[in-house]
Amino acid sequence: MNDDLLMKLKRLAVVETDQPLSKMTTLRIGGVAKYVVFPDSGIALDAVISLLKKENVPWKIIGKGSDLLCSDDPYNGVIIRLDRHFRNYYFTGQQVIAEAGASIIALSVDAAKNALSGLEFASGIPGTVGGAVFMNAGAYKASMADILDEVFVYRDGRLEWIPASDCELAYRSSIFQKHREWIIVAAKIHLKPKDTKEIFALMDDRRARRMKSQPLDQPSCGSVFRNPENINAWQLIDGIGYRGKRNGGAVVSEKHCNFILNTDNATARDYLDLVRDIQQKVKEKYGIELQMEMERFNWQNE
Ligand SMILES: Cc1cc2nc3c(=O)[nH]c(=O)nc-3n(C[C@H](O)[C@H](O)[C@H](O)COP(=O)(O)OP(=O)(O)OC[C@H]3O[C@@H](n4cnc5c(N)ncnc54)[C@H](O)[C@@H]3O)c2cc1C
Repeated sequence: MNDDLLMKLKRLAVVETDQPLSKMTTLRIGGVAKYVVFPDSGIALDAVISLLKKENVPWKIIGKGSDLLCSDDPYNGVIIRLDRHFRNYYFTGQQVIAEAGASIIALSVDAAKNALSGLEFASGIPGTVGGAVFMNAGAYKASMADILDEVFVYRDGRLEWIPASDCELAYRSSIFQKHREWIIVAAKIHLKPKDTKEIFALMDDRRARRMKSQPLDQPSCGSVFRNPENINAWQLIDGIGYRGKRNGGAVVSEKHCNFILNTDNATARDYLDLVRDIQQKVKEKYGIELQMEMERFNWQNE
């Protein structure tokens, strides 16, 4: 990117330079991103995207980076973040309109305070509203698909509400995974009235279950693999004897073996090699192809 373009970008939004992706992801892995941009309005977002398109500069929107395995390579495009300025939400009766950069955990806590139920499942998911819609995040047999009414999308230079029924929401999947150039700007979510104490009791119970079953004290991306039909990924990983298996700084968690942890400054390569090793061993033993749930970003050499 030339200085002229950088200057134009700086007129539209705050731009930070040379920021490690390892600081923008929960896994704490990733090379240096040349530019990180924080638009503060829909107009600024539109102007930034139009400029990048015109200049043919690659870009990537990220939320809390809680589902990303970034390579160790530098990223010479532009990272766009909404979690600084697009993080308001507004309760309107039994609906909440939430901007994409809002923390889904903060939203679930505020919904509970407003005596509104439906987001309890999300109270331990460390992502943004945008990332949760993109992934159709879920837990305990509930997911965003159950509560989403509409999504405010920036696409083809326009901002528009689209109904959830058009978002192709399925297990950890949505239409947004097919259209990487669409940006989720906000979401309308419906909730149900319930006693605040009861909602918090359920959330506390879920938190206790997570603390007991998941290694939350070390950097991870949550579940590494999608559950195949009729079996949990962790059972297959356990079945190949990989609980505690290490490759460099990347280790299969002893506590929950569908989590791979960055315990000791793992490189992205350590991590991905362990993922590939698991996939191969599971395929050999069970004939099942485990699919990654987390997303690989900025991998040129694979
Ligand atoms: C400890 C831990 C526990 C977890 N538990 C769960 C769980 O129980 N259930 C679950 O489903 N997930 C879980 N996750 C995974 C992760 O938190 C979710 O997938 C979350 O929804 C990702 O949100 P994010 O904002 O971090 O997205 P990111 O990781 O930043 O991005 C993920 C993808 O979404 C896209 N994206 C993000 N924001 C937007 C936007 N505004 N517009 C368009 N695209 C966008 C990105 O481009 C990227 O492709 C867990 C992760 C951790 C670390």
